Amino acid sequence: MAQIIFDHVTKKFKNETALHDISFEIDKGEFVFFIGKSGAGKSTLLNLIMKQEEVTSGKITVEGRRVDTMTRNKVPEHRRRLGIMSPEVGLLKDRSVYDNIKLALLATENADDRMREKIIKVLGLVGLAKKYKSYPDELSGGEQARILLARALSVQPEILIADEPTANLDPDSAWDLMQLLEELNYRGMTILVASHARGLVTIMKRRCITLIAGRMAADEKRSIYNQKSMDIFAERRILKN
Ligand code: ADP
Repeated sequence: MAQIIFDHVTKKFKNETALHDISFEIDKGEFVFFIGKSGAGKSTLLNLIMKQEEVTSGKITVEGRRVDTMTRNKVPEHRRRLGIMSPEVGLLKDRSVYDNIKLALLATENADDRMREKIIKVLGLVGLAKKYKSYPDELSGGEQARILLARALSVQPEILIADEPTANLDPDSAWDLMQLLEELNYRGMTILVASHARGLVTIMKRRCITLIAGRMAADEKRSIYNQKSMDIFAERRILKN
């Protein structure tokens, strides 16, 4: 059974239909981009998976559990399985990097006596273990994005959901973040990314679901292979090492 299933999902807000009859399946370990212009429905789709919005009609299943009919008391447990990287939940400026991640662990009831170890480990994964005492304002945009990723990873999620993770990043930082997401995916994590950055997405050669005005316009299993772009990708990897 697929890990995430959308079965004829429609989401209406008062005056408009944000998503119209959306169906797809995503297997465990897939890397999927949701692309489309601003207002196409990408965030709404991710919010439905997280149950931050309710469907108007249709069924959503995540890891065998029905999300659309899930009762309130089951939602925290459902969210604990998801790593969420969203621009709406930024870093608290008056807390250190360490405390920002600690708060996320406390909020998702993931706190335990191995918390410190976990925090340093996820910071290590994004290459920022040394910055645990820093405050967000002392970090570059790219570093802040990597901290947001570390915070999402701290709950040891099965699925990582990232809404416009490269928004406001310079191209180099965007690449670095994408490489981190690739590495996580190689380790078996399912990665869902909403993005309007078509260029970046094409280079990544991953499954791409395109939304246009709330409708699914395309589901490309792999974006077109682009030798030139892959060369750039390889070059960046070499430069980094
Ligand atoms: P995207 O993430 O692709 O930019 P969204 O999912 O944010 O698109 O929005 C899709 C459509 O749904 C937009 O027209 C937006 O105005 C509308 N929408 C999103 N959230 C709400 C809400 N909470 N209330 C009313 N309309 C909303």
